[in-house]
Amino acid sequence: MKRRFSFLLSALLLAATSFAHAASFAEYDLSADMDRQAVAVEALPYQSWVQDVRSRVNIDPFFLLKRQSEFFKKGWPEEYFFFSRIINKRMGTIRPINALEVFLMKAHAEISPLEHNPFEFSARILKKQEQGREKVKVIFVSTTTAFVSNADVEDSDRRMEELLHQGWTYAADLHNHPFFWDNETGDIAGTLIPSFADRRHYREMARKYGLKEGRITNGLHTISLSNKDFTFFK
Ligand SMILES: [Zn+2]
Repeated sequence: MKRRFSFLLSALLLAATSFAHAASFAEYDLSADMDRQAVAVEALPYQSWVQDVRSRVNIDPFFLLKRQSEFFKKGWPEEYFFFSRIINKRMGTIRPINALEVFLMKAHAEISPLEHNPFEFSARILKKQEQGREKVKVIFVSTTTAFVSNADVEDSDRRMEELLHQGWTYAADLHNHPFFWDNETGDIAGTLIPSFADRRHYREMARKYGLKEGRITNGLHTISLSNKDFTFFK
């Protein structure tokens, strides 16, 4: 595992630019096996957070989707369409989080502790066949703000363009959907469903860079959306 951009470097870059987007960049070379190895909830390394989540809510991803869909049912029929498709297993595939995604959740937790800071990370997962072996590289951005900003995304885009020119493919785009325990409406989120912004992002990334798969994790489970699913993202 090689980390190209140290956090020191990103701190210097931040100091040199502005604090409008507080982000940490890293680049990881990971094994392709990690992206195939499912990790059971009981085996997750961040167990104290898992126990905390479990003490608050049923962590079944379909329970969480149904719970949140009630908040969207009346006001946002276009969003409810996506809830019903995913709940009825007609869009995306929900599975346990895998070892590569756990690695990134841990890297994110080093910057934004999972317990108290519901912040997002963004990861571009790139793959390349070399001498019969599949290589995996991840461009990773972890934020200390509520969302990954456009400026952060643009920095990732630039690095990815370099890698695409070197024969890598944009295999998957991963980000997390944290839980929000203090939301006044009662919507705690943590759901495996692409938001309007996510759907627009996937469409754009597929068009510009040939993105094949969109993934969202809540740290426990992950949804995988294929580029066939993207055709519903108008
Ligand atoms: Zn999202």
